[in-house]
Amino acid sequence: MVNGMALAALYCLISLSPLLGVAVLRMKSDMTVMHDVGTSTAFAAYGIMALQPVLVSRWKWVERPFGLDVLSRFHRYMGVFAAVLLLTHPPLMAFGGAGIALLTEIVQPWYIWLGRVVLSLLIVQVIVSLLWKAFGLTFEKWRSIHNVLAVIILGGAFIHSWFAAYDLWLPMRFLWVVLFGITLYAYVYRRVLKPRELARTPYRIESVTQETHNVWTVKLVPPQGKKIYDYEPGQFHFITLQRGGGLPIEEHHWTISSSPAQKNYISSTIKESGDFTKTIGQTRPGDTALVEGPFGRFSYTLYPEDRDFVFIAGGIGITPLMAMLRHMRDTAKEAKVLLLYANHSEKNIVFRSEIAEIAADGTPQLEVVHILSNPELGWNGEIGRLDHAKLAGLVGPEKRERAFYVCAPPKMADSVTKGLRLLGVSHRNIRTERFSL
Ligand SMILES: Cc1cc2nc3c(=O)[nH]c(=O)nc-3n(C[C@H](O)[C@H](O)[C@H](O)COP(=O)(O)OP(=O)(O)OC[C@H]3O[C@@H](n4cnc5c(N)ncnc54)[C@H](O)[C@@H]3O)c2cc1C
Repeated sequence: MVNGMALAALYCLISLSPLLGVAVLRMKSDMTVMHDVGTSTAFAAYGIMALQPVLVSRWKWVERPFGLDVLSRFHRYMGVFAAVLLLTHPPLMAFGGAGIALLTEIVQPWYIWLGRVVLSLLIVQVIVSLLWKAFGLTFEKWRSIHNVLAVIILGGAFIHSWFAAYDLWLPMRFLWVVLFGITLYAYVYRRVLKPRELARTPYRIESVTQETHNVWTVKLVPPQGKKIYDYEPGQFHFITLQRGGGLPIEEHHWTISSSPAQKNYISSTIKESGDFTKTIGQTRPGDTALVEGPFGRFSYTLYPEDRDFVFIAGGIGITPLMAMLRHMRDTAKEAKVLLLYANHSEKNIVFRSEIAEIAADGTPQLEVVHILSNPELGWNGEIGRLDHAKLAGLVGPEKRERAFYVCAPPKMADSVTKGLRLLGVSHRNIRTERFSL
């Protein structure tokens, strides 16, 4: 496996390569320091932007050491950083000697105008990416806009810098082409090559089972002669359901709720939580699906030395923890697990009987505590929210050295993590999955 440190170093090397190129080639300029800083910010931004599609390419060797959630967040931060760098580029050059006309004059060479357009679109890209919900866009609309703008910005930045920096030496021009080649390949791979590859081996829906009033388990089998890909319990995949009857065709990510110990099918357990998932119960056996995975680092198998665990789930956040419990059962893992499972009411508890069966069988040694925030009359279990006081009561001092796996809606995940830290649980021992990338 490619080491995360090595990849991080490679990222720094490639993104800084335009600046390193200037330093190594000792490119001299007759301009002021301010002007040269202005050029450098553009060079740095170009290096960062060139790698943006790579960060979200979902290449396994890029994703595996970090997890897709970390890479997606990093992609977002670096997009903002590149935009800030590029915003300083025109004024620094203008006030550093190129002349104020660079900012104010309408009559400018076409490549300067292209640069203006690229910068404006980059600002639009950042604002829309941060505020798409506030603009009332759906995720799919935002993603389409994002992809179109990305092509224009990356292509435009390449052409602008190629012509505007007309004094670039040959080795730098070569570097420019290499960087653009990386960008282009990552983009084409994600948008064209990978979808084609997935379309050649569609999975088939074997069954759709209703778990609760609004949660469904979809079981998928690979095409004949193909094996299910290897995965760790707790990882997730992207599924594009291809159903008839005018049902939407969208790619969504869901945890793989099955155990990798069984090789006949993979499953996802899906809650009706929005406009797409509310149609999930209309999926039928025989429908097909494109499946891409696995992704993520939320799995106990990545830390083989751990034996004792506390699993904390909120609502549908049980899915990766269930995959881990199933895997522990299937592999007869010697482990102690305390499962704290918070729900609104009893009817929301998913996998209730299977969890009880695993606890009764004793492999792993499973202690289950259900916590309901709004129980029906007659409930004699835990009531309320999983706040600091409740955590302190449920997680005794002897359990605080255990490995904690938390999967819950973002608010609950944050408050549980804070509560655990207050109880003295080490940051290193808390692993969290948030159901948003
Ligand atoms: C790692 C991970 C694992 C998950 N596992 C499960 C699971 O096991 N079971 C489960 O029920 N849910 C799971 N989810 C949540 C699931 O992805 C969303 O509930 C689902 O995409 C909502 O789609 P919707 O259109 O019905 O809802 P909407 O209300 O339209 O969308 C809700 C939010 O989901 C996100 N979203 C919507 N569409 C997409 C998309 N195509 N790609 C990426 N994000 C999108 C957006 O942030 C959006 O605001 C998981 C999420 C992540 C990140």
